[in-house]
Amino acid sequence: MTNLNDHLIKLIRLHGPISISSYITEALTNPKFGYYVNQTPFGKEGDFITAPEVSQMFGALIGLWFADIWLKMKRPVKVHLIELGPGKGTLISDLIRVLDVLPDFLNTLELHLVEASPQLIEVQKEALKTFKGKITWHETVKTALTAAEGDDMATFVIANEFFDALPIRQFQKGDLGWHERMVTVDEKGDGLSTMLSPFPVPDAELPDHLKNAELHSVIEVSPMADYITRLISEHIKRNTGAALFIDYGYNEYRTGETLQAIEKHKFVDIFERPGYADLSSHVNFRKISDLAKQSDLKTYGPAMQGKFLTDIGIAERVQILNKSATSKQQKDILSALKRLIAPDEMGTLFKVLAIISDPDLEIAGF
Ligand code: SAH
Repeated sequence: MTNLNDHLIKLIRLHGPISISSYITEALTNPKFGYYVNQTPFGKEGDFITAPEVSQMFGALIGLWFADIWLKMKRPVKVHLIELGPGKGTLISDLIRVLDVLPDFLNTLELHLVEASPQLIEVQKEALKTFKGKITWHETVKTALTAAEGDDMATFVIANEFFDALPIRQFQKGDLGWHERMVTVDEKGDGLSTMLSPFPVPDAELPDHLKNAELHSVIEVSPMADYITRLISEHIKRNTGAALFIDYGYNEYRTGETLQAIEKHKFVDIFERPGYADLSSHVNFRKISDLAKQSDLKTYGPAMQGKFLTDIGIAERVQILNKSATSKQQKDILSALKRLIAPDEMGTLFKVLAIISDPDLEIAGF
């Protein structure tokens, strides 16, 4: 049993059951025991591999996608580029490197990285040490957006596999209404398990579309994802700019549970090893785009990652890389290509959503 397990058992004994959302927050970002604070999640030795870790093509293509928007926006003189949850800093450093082809854009950039893990901040600093412009690290999206406020500026936001790490709440339908799923101490007394809160929640807290769902259905909502989306949307509306969110997810309001735990590339029980396994859930892209539209912004997608990367030129990137590659490297490039775009790999599960301030701008990838 883990330290976080013992810590949570004590907490629950003192204060009563905690929500799934508090459990996720503790498991991922508790300053002492949290997964992102202690583990090295990404890569072959880690627990999972993200697209930027598969290939430099991913960050490079996203850099060119933003460059295209910058040109179409008539070259704003200053751009705040905010990345949410930069991990090892691979996406942002590949994105910066490719912009050597467009120094005018590169020179406008000021970077803001939103990161909860002090350990990952150190890794990101190392990855970005050759970047000449200003970089600021922020603990919250709100402080990053505040720093990016200003006239004659645009804000670009990129987030890959960030929203899936945000806490969610789960509700289950019973005879009396919807009950929140809570985390409590199991019967043996040394582990955690779920229970339903005996008190139904008021209907107003639930998405309209799901109020008539069948008995025992489960729904998931992420007040944190909603809050962050609203902040970003209102900021982009005020300051102009664009956001690109990439994650696994779905595009309708629906029932079903998606919270999962992964350790060493395998699914495990969400309570088996709190703090040692990654927790994540599928992202509701429909909710994100509905909120952005409420701020009077235009949204594109979600497109499947395979289609998006193909449309914005991944085949050309393969050719460029192949030119200076050995035959072993060429094989690796091809297998990375497959990993990123094939329907049975990351190509269809992962989706890409763009949010843009200017409704007349023609953007690539959708
Ligand atoms: N974008 C990277 C990493 C994805 S993992 C990649 O694609 O490889 C999720 C990242 O978000 C990690 O860097 C993690 O530390 C960070 N993170 C998770 N929850 C966070 C939160 N609530 N606030 C800030 N950063 C968070």
